[in-house]
Amino acid sequence: MNTDRKLSVALAGNPNCGKTTLFNSLTGATAYVGNWPGVTVEKRSGHYKRKTGGKIEIVDLPGIYSLSPYASEEIISRNYILEEHPDCIIDVVDATNLERNLYLTTQLLETDVPVVVALNMTDVLKKNGGSIDEKTLSNSLGVPVVSISALKQNNLDELMETAAKVAESKRKGRSVLEGGDISEIIGKARAIYEDCEIENPLFHAIKAIEGDELEGQKNKEAFDKVSAILAGGTDYEAKTADLRYQFITEKCANAYKEGPTAKEENEKGKPRLKLSDKIDRVLTNKWAGIPIFIAILFLIFHLVFSEDFLYLNAMGAFGSGITFPDFGDNPFTGFLIGEAGLASPGVLLTNLLSGVTDSITGLVSSGFESLNLPPELQWIPSLICDGILGGVFAVLGFLPQILLLFLFFSILEDSGYMARVAFILDRIFRKFGLSGRAFLPMIMGFGCSVPAMMNTRTLGTDNEKVATIRVIPFFSCGAKLPILTAVAGGIALAFGMPYVDLITLMMYLLGMVVAICAVLVMHITTRREKVPPFIMELPAYHLPQARALMIHLWDKTKHFVKKAFTIIFATTVVIWLLQHLAWNWTYLPDEASEGSILASLGQFIQPLFTPLGFGNQLAGGVGWVFAVAVVTGLMAKENAIGTLGTLAVSIGAIAAFDENASGEMFASMIAATGLTAGGAIAFIIFNMLTIPCFAAVATAKSELPKGSFKWTVLFWLVVSYVVAAAFYTMIDFPWTIAVWAAVLIAGVAALYFYGKKMTAKEAAGA
Ligand code: GDP
Ligand code: MG
Repeated sequence: MNTDRKLSVALAGNPNCGKTTLFNSLTGATAYVGNWPGVTVEKRSGHYKRKTGGKIEIVDLPGIYSLSPYASEEIISRNYILEEHPDCIIDVVDATNLERNLYLTTQLLETDVPVVVALNMTDVLKKNGGSIDEKTLSNSLGVPVVSISALKQNNLDELMETAAKVAESKRKGRSVLEGGDISEIIGKARAIYEDCEIENPLFHAIKAIEGDELEGQKNKEAFDKVSAILAGGTDYEAKTADLRYQFITEKCANAYKEGPTAKEENEKGKPRLKLSDKIDRVLTNKWAGIPIFIAILFLIFHLVFSEDFLYLNAMGAFGSGITFPDFGDNPFTGFLIGEAGLASPGVLLTNLLSGVTDSITGLVSSGFESLNLPPELQWIPSLICDGILGGVFAVLGFLPQILLLFLFFSILEDSGYMARVAFILDRIFRKFGLSGRAFLPMIMGFGCSVPAMMNTRTLGTDNEKVATIRVIPFFSCGAKLPILTAVAGGIALAFGMPYVDLITLMMYLLGMVVAICAVLVMHITTRREKVPPFIMELPAYHLPQARALMIHLWDKTKHFVKKAFTIIFATTVVIWLLQHLAWNWTYLPDEASEGSILASLGQFIQPLFTPLGFGNQLAGGVGWVFAVAVVTGLMAKENAIGTLGTLAVSIGAIAAFDENASGEMFASMIAATGLTAGGAIAFIIFNMLTIPCFAAVATAKSELPKGSFKWTVLFWLVVSYVVAAAFYTMIDFPWTIAVWAAVLIAGVAALYFYGKKMTAKEAAGA
């Protein structure tokens, strides 16, 4: 065997059959695995190390139900298989859904590429008591079949060795249609393609018979010749599909042996509802579905953010007779027990971490003190402690809560619940010109807008795509979490509202509500296209896998920590420098930073934010720090808090170095600047809804159809500004509620009549 040449193997299969899991298991990569269809939208490659030495290149393709593609990511898969000459295709088949999955297999067999069928999810099959006879299946299909579990990593080496062996062989395409009554036409069509010297002649010939559009564009000459020999009046596409299913039922289905549980029926002869169906009846209930979703979200936020866990303290305050015991001073005070009450798991972890970072800063600063540096070197401790450590730790301090939140989100997703939410939302989304499909990229937006925007490629229409990309940033991403938590924590401390979890959840929900309203407005004001039907099978519920969750979290941690020590580190240094330099390049100590370059730049843009409550009205000559934070937040959202962390220490808002994490830092900023509750909320809202970070903006630019990018940027600016202004004024000047309500009613009415007019026009035009 020639080991120099690197074999390449492509993973193809239906959505959600476990290709990416297999890819990760084989290559040790950490690509995104989600328990619903349509997660992978681009091909991705990695290497598998063979036990016998040598490497095999593995390519993970987007999921496809058939090789007659409708969406762009399906075209990626088809083109890869046909044009990039993989040495072998591993056709990943979900063994619990054999017949549907084999439909694609029957088409893959028509190419000349060697194929191995990997029967995946056999662990589930076994648990259900079923089994599939590999030999029978292999005989019917004419290619090797290997049972595996991508998740449990069973039998993967055997799969790869089989693939390697098969890859070295030559194979000619074979079709399950050849025995049927269109075999004559297939033979003729194949000869036509062979004459034209087209690769994979059988595959293309059959696609031509099926009248495949892509085929018509690609190989026009041969396609037209084939069209000429077809009998008129026959629907060949339906015919071939029929024959494929017929083959599957007759020749393959018998390989499957049902387990005893599936056969059980109740007395009336109806199949018994499985547990998962019962659960689905409740979770996807028309009325209960959304309240359940919000309740679950609330529980999660309470676990992650609450400083008054289980509301022990609040219950005392409301006179329930239960009083939060005063534990006095004991080792847990400050970690598990705070002023506001019992710490939730998330807060406890944060407290523990900030205990560590505080002692690091404390050690470093007392080290500098003992050095007794001369006055001209005093800038060194200031740069290191206030600037760098203040900024980086302010951001890193949120890591535990971010991870915990993502752990819960991953559990919701991997268990299959999020796909149910998409299903519930489809009913609502449809009215807005979106399909439930659009919910997947939106939910991915909670993690990071970049992959979420890339995922919009799966959406059917341009309108749907543009609308979804525009609102993805409203689904607050992980990087915005430090802003939300720090400000919410600050508000809680400064204004005596100990409900960090509620404030944070409200902000998340606000983002979603704004997104829905924005989509609705866009739908009414643009020409409507018909939304393609949303067909998604609900993936099976399964217990989330610790390994997959850990991969997810580890990835997040790496990303976050890397960002803290690169972008955020660099920004805090620059911010510190600008804050300690005057325009004539002289060094300014902390007390004199009002004359710094940063201060004058900040003061210059500060008036822009006056209508939002964090502009000129702020006292102390340091109110400009919020304006600066907004700008640095454009690079990376965590920067907003990193910047405040750097500035808080040096403008004297924080006396010691020990309060830079969590809400205390922001509470001290509120005290130093006179920021109001309304202004603080507006600060969150503006940062959350405005132009996202550079990376997301660049992705939006490349994913959006031509011409809509600049409108998108304007859209983000206007929406964030108006919503922030509305909340600032409504909270701080309650009489303005009447004004905003009037504006809202007028807006809704205008939209309503505009929509009616458009509908009438469309009806007249049609
Ligand atoms: P893809 O869409 O084909 O890339 O599928 P994914 O790799 O994203 O997996 C879809 C879901 O199936 C995830 O929730 C996986 O954890 C789960 N899964 C994948 N392979 C297996 C397996 O062998 N056994 C079990 N029980 N679950 C699996
Ligand atoms: Mg995938």
